[in-house]
Amino acid sequence: MTKRAQGRLAPRFVLCRACNHFVRPGARTCAFCEADMAQAEADYESALREALEATAAVERLLFGAASPDRR
Ligand SMILES: [Zn+2]
Repeated sequence: MTKRAQGRLAPRFVLCRACNHFVRPGARTCAFCEADMAQAEADYESALREALEATAAVERLLFGAASPDRR
């Protein structure tokens, strides 16, 4: 890759989970809403996990007890 091509690459921004703005990578706090980036990410992931678990619970209810991941 040439130097010129590298300079044209857009930096990878990270999404603030609190306000959905893109923030410079490495920023500890969001420049827009001043959320703690790590905390916002952790909150987002736990909310996502809860949503996935809720979805799985609904699927178990809908499709019965024949759980494919019986251990
Ligand atoms: Zn933000």
